[in-house]
Amino acid sequence: MKDKSLVNINGKILPPDQATISVFDRGFLYGDSIYEVTMTLDGVPFMVEEHMDRLEKSASKIGLPLPIPREKIIEQLIATVKKLAVKKSYVRIVCTRGAGEITLDPTREQTGSFILICKELHPNPSEWYDKGVWMVIADVIRNHQRATDPSVKSGNYLNNVMAMGEAKKVGAFDAIMLNHQGMVSEGTTSNIWIVKDNKFVTPPLDAGLLGGITRKSLLELGQSQGLFMSEANFSPEDMKNADEVFLTSTTKEIVPIVKIDDKIIGSGQPGVNTRKLHAMYQQLMSEHYKSEKSRLNI
Ligand code: PMP
Repeated sequence: MKDKSLVNINGKILPPDQATISVFDRGFLYGDSIYEVTMTLDGVPFMVEEHMDRLEKSASKIGLPLPIPREKIIEQLIATVKKLAVKKSYVRIVCTRGAGEITLDPTREQTGSFILICKELHPNPSEWYDKGVWMVIADVIRNHQRATDPSVKSGNYLNNVMAMGEAKKVGAFDAIMLNHQGMVSEGTTSNIWIVKDNKFVTPPLDAGLLGGITRKSLLELGQSQGLFMSEANFSPEDMKNADEVFLTSTTKEIVPIVKIDDKIIGSGQPGVNTRKLHAMYQQLMSEHYKSEKSRLNI
């Protein structure tokens, strides 16, 4: 790993080359794990309570007891990024059901493993904002809610891995995934939005997607600023005929999408509404970091 990084395994902070877990860990064997990705600025975690809420929700949906309570996770996170000492850090929080006998039976292993991966995070490439990115619609669909529920942020990302593979095969940035009804669900690790006639639309949670923290913040932020924000299903055709399309996630923030498959979106340039919302969101981010710095006493 090129970037400066540190790993915390069950409370022990280690350099990446010494950070190992058992081959019998259920996270490795079955993807029997949950995770969150957030980031820090000057050691201050971003939306950490929202990420902990979602981690707890994922844990309860799959009946995985958190190996340590949320307050301890936040404590470990702050201690690990402090030691890493970088301006901006990516933080991955992983909890698994632990190691033991080889059996699918989830009631057998309750030791739990807790892992934090912290690594230097670089600013998003300016090219994403100057030119926008090209996405493809994946052939592989997002999971059905009654299979591995997409609202659970679990270690089961194989269909998303395959979707990303489809994108990379043709040189695209990433893939957009549809649900089993053929409607747009989300990106492989992001939520998808369209802008049509100055109205922002993102698929509803029951389209089968992860309730993104960025997605929720933007819905609230836009509404509070008098923008038209809505959650509604849209088809791949609706998306291709939108004025603007963009994706959102914690670390990527907002990224304009200017081409989907062979179709140029709108003017083929990052859209004005997308830029406007991004500027508002960056303002929200800096205010949030300020208030979290004092709340968490960092
Ligand atoms: N959908 C999926 C499948 C994801 O993995 C992510 C990244 N966590 C998102 C959406 C965006 O979520 P957030 O805004 O909370 O980062």
